[in-house]
Amino acid sequence: MDCIFCKIASQQIPARVAFENDRIIAFHDLFPQAPTHILVIPKTHYSTLNDVPASESALLGEMVRTAILIARELDFADNGYRVVMNCNQDGGQSVDHIHLHLLAGRQLTWPPG
Ligand code: 5GP
Ligand code: ZN
Repeated sequence: MDCIFCKIASQQIPARVAFENDRIIAFHDLFPQAPTHILVIPKTHYSTLNDVPASESALLGEMVRTAILIARELDFADNGYRVVMNCNQDGGQSVDHIHLHLLAGRQLTWPPG
């Protein structure tokens, strides 16, 4: 499959990995939008959030748990952070393999553009 995040998950493309287990890998975004910008992805390919079956709800939970873990490990849990998942065109999704953005290290604005 010609998916850039599948290739990162299988180490065919290098990335700066922040966390990894059997199901999930987290790596630093190539074009960071904040001092810390990490992408948390499942190793299994799902193109969009709409494609994740209810039976994989635990995987979505694990992605969020991973973001919390990284926030604690990198010591910005108390200062704060943001988790975002973009879906399809209006959501601004540009890579068709689901990913959770973990952003931290500056005052983030709301609402997004
Ligand atoms: P989206 O716009 O789909 O929500 O987020 C995709 C993210 O993937 C963007 O923030 C973009 O900078 C990042 N990205 C795209 N290609 C690569 C890559 O090859 N390596 C890494 N580490 N990040 C990438
Ligand atoms: Zn993929």
